[in-house]
Amino acid sequence: MKNQTLSAIATAATAFALLAILFPSAVLGDTPDPVLGPAWPQDSALEYHWATGGVPPAAIRTALIEGATDATVSRASRAPSFTYDTTAANDVGYGIPMPCASNAIACAYRNVPTGFDVWLRESGHKYDWGTLRWCEVVAFAAGCFSAETLMLDELGHIDGLAHHPNLPDESDYTDSVVQAGSHAKPQAGWNASAFGVCDTATLQTMYDVPSWSTPYSTCLAIPATLSLSMTPPGAASGSVIFTSAFRAADGGRLNGNPLAGRRVVLQARISFNWVDVVVMAGMTTAGSYSISISVRPVTDYRAVYRATASEGLRTAVSPTITSGGTCTSVCPLGPTPVRPSITLGRGR
Ligand SMILES: [Zn+2]
Repeated sequence: MKNQTLSAIATAATAFALLAILFPSAVLGDTPDPVLGPAWPQDSALEYHWATGGVPPAAIRTALIEGATDATVSRASRAPSFTYDTTAANDVGYGIPMPCASNAIACAYRNVPTGFDVWLRESGHKYDWGTLRWCEVVAFAAGCFSAETLMLDELGHIDGLAHHPNLPDESDYTDSVVQAGSHAKPQAGWNASAFGVCDTATLQTMYDVPSWSTPYSTCLAIPATLSLSMTPPGAASGSVIFTSAFRAADGGRLNGNPLAGRRVVLQARISFNWVDVVVMAGMTTAGSYSISISVRPVTDYRAVYRATASEGLRTAVSPTITSGGTCTSVCPLGPTPVRPSITLGRGR
């Protein structure tokens, strides 16, 4: 936590102290943001307006509306959307008496499902460490803070995210905008205009994804299960339909989700090696994949999803199923006269 640039959750001292206990700074690695508190109903449409007596100057208003749009557009989940509305009950205030910690430049309050508030200190506010300058009112001079990014940070708190536990060297700082220590220009992430992957990771596990083909945040490593069946069962030859069901096997609200739009490959074991046969086609039923091929007698088949760098989903391998028939000599197409008693080619 940086001493000069806190964006704290307001209610507060107690909630803050509790968080410090639950999520010690010893947490290492590319870690999803901790959860601050309960989730709003999925797809909540949250509205805000400027607090009475605390209307920001025009440039800040524009920045805050952009920050709210950033939070809506980049949520990658069914977390709340945020829009400005003059009749809204939730306040966003600027430069007025506020419950922020004395050294905080912004803070937020949430009371699910009733409402929320966000506050920003005024540009020019004096701290022990110096003077606050919002970039949007000082022509983006070095050392300024982006009000747009701070709005995104605070709305992350409103969503239910606590501060991201960074690595000691902060090399993962840009994986999250929900940070205890905000960065001034030109430090890394000072002008973030989208949630980071470790923000959306927690939003996805709290709120679920908007569609079954939405990629899972790369800050996650969700295990999944892959089934495999053949129709007709145990066929020895001819055209056979292989069908797989692919589902998430962990991840809060993601658990049990069908996984659509992924690349599932049917493999056959040939000469003890697993070989890709064909990419299975996604079916109308989400998370279901199917393909029709001519099978070899007495051959093992399995389905595989291979993890990619673009998604936080682990490699998954189905159980093996075997086509029918008998082999008293070398089978015509499957050069595996005696299947080995050990299993090879697994453990991807
Ligand atoms: Zn914060």
